[in-house]
Amino acid sequence: MDIRPDPSPVPKSVLSLAQEKQAMLAAIVATSDDAIISKTLDGIITTWNHAAEYIFGYSEAEMVGRHISVIIPEERYAEEDYIMGQISKGKRIEHFETFRLRKDGKLIPLSVSVSPIINSNGRIIGASKIARDVSERQKSEEKDGILAAIIATSDDTIISKTLEGIITSWNPAAERMFGYTETEAIGQHISLIIPLERYKEETYIIGQIARGKKIEHFETVRQHKDGRAISISVSVSPVVDSKGNVIGASKIARDISARLAAEEENARLYQQIKTLNEKKDEFIGLASHELKTPLTSISGYLQILDRMITDNKAKHFLTKTRQQVGKLTALIGDLLDVSKIEAGKLQLATELFDIHQLTADTIEVIRLNNPAHEISLETATDGIMVTGDPNRIEQVIINLLTNGIRYSPKVKRIEVSISSTNHEVQVAVKDFGIGITTEQLAHIFSRFYRVDNLTPSISGLGIGLYLSHEIITRHNGRIWADSEPGNGSTFYFSLPL
Ligand code: ADP
Repeated sequence: MDIRPDPSPVPKSVLSLAQEKQAMLAAIVATSDDAIISKTLDGIITTWNHAAEYIFGYSEAEMVGRHISVIIPEERYAEEDYIMGQISKGKRIEHFETFRLRKDGKLIPLSVSVSPIINSNGRIIGASKIARDVSERQKSEEKDGILAAIIATSDDTIISKTLEGIITSWNPAAERMFGYTETEAIGQHISLIIPLERYKEETYIIGQIARGKKIEHFETVRQHKDGRAISISVSVSPVVDSKGNVIGASKIARDISARLAAEEENARLYQQIKTLNEKKDEFIGLASHELKTPLTSISGYLQILDRMITDNKAKHFLTKTRQQVGKLTALIGDLLDVSKIEAGKLQLATELFDIHQLTADTIEVIRLNNPAHEISLETATDGIMVTGDPNRIEQVIINLLTNGIRYSPKVKRIEVSISSTNHEVQVAVKDFGIGITTEQLAHIFSRFYRVDNLTPSISGLGIGLYLSHEIITRHNGRIWADSEPGNGSTFYFSLPL
């Protein structure tokens, strides 16, 4: 049989029935997408259609008359021998997958069917071969394989369903999450895993999906086979067919019970800490109040004693005792102030006063108690009137001066200066002591903050600067510091005029 297309078609009216059939076959061969090749039993190519030209890159003229081995990779010669052996026995070979060589040397995967060609005497005279290029199919099979592997090994649950809600796929993670096997789940309605009270949600989701919309990271609750509720975060996407029609939904779900539990635990811990903190503030307030009462009477009795005692030695001890009681009173006063601030009850008794005078008087008191220190005061003008609580401002100045003294173990000099502009007055207290690092400067005005390790020998509660900051802020002023470790610090505060 010669299945080469007839180069000069004869008018239909004059064609015999056999000729007509022949022409039709020729047309089929010529227009086929599959390569159709015929060859003799010796392997000489006798026909080569358009699709063969396209798949193998050789033209008909190049190939007719040549040996078929042109397109057979060397390592597959044996395969060809086997095929021809079968053909000479009159047997067909169907959909056999192999590789052939293109003209450019590239190997192409083919699915081949080979049939014997029998002449009118019933003798086998050759073979016809139909070959289909399966590279595209193989590529998409590979892609499907990769996708399937991803879905199978994913830690996230991946489920697909039709628009009617019938489950069409169910990965191993879905089995673990919901307790149903793939066989149990596929074909069932998705309501299998939806708690009754959430059915409405599913109607909404499907509505969105049908309109081609995605739903992302939506947090909800689903139900395990054993009835247990599972908190999940789910993203749902439409599944679209090749024509762009939405045919279902794919759903990726992640168990968020652990995250929700951790969030709940955090909220609980936060509440607990808050309560403890409030209790601590309450305790500080209560304790300092309770300590203050006996201390006040001790001070009173010591004062009476001071008037009664005449013995010098006894008077000396009494002075020491009164000094220590004074320190204790100041500490307790500070603690009381802290709890007042926390409770929002720090009162200011505002009046108009001379800040220069107040500073000078305060320095005088400090000098009396620290005779070894040299405290200077420098000011351009005296008589600077400000509105505020002079007792509280005095408290700030005392605090800055005593800090300057306490944190300067070597240099016994403190320089205080006052300067003013049209709208504010600024007081600076400069020492030449141990200094503060930039990192620590950021914290020194916080409650209970102390630079540990640096100052283990200097006792304190870490509340003086906190109180000073509160007092100055309540006066609409500012307080800050400059320092260089080893070279001393300057603390400033300013008050509006
Ligand atoms: P304390 O009672 O600890 O002195 P403060 O609130 O007055 O509390 O000060 C907080 C911390 O700031 C101190 O522990 C100290 O480390 C640091 N500090 C304060 N003033 C000075 C200063 N003049 N020089 C060096 N460090 C200082």
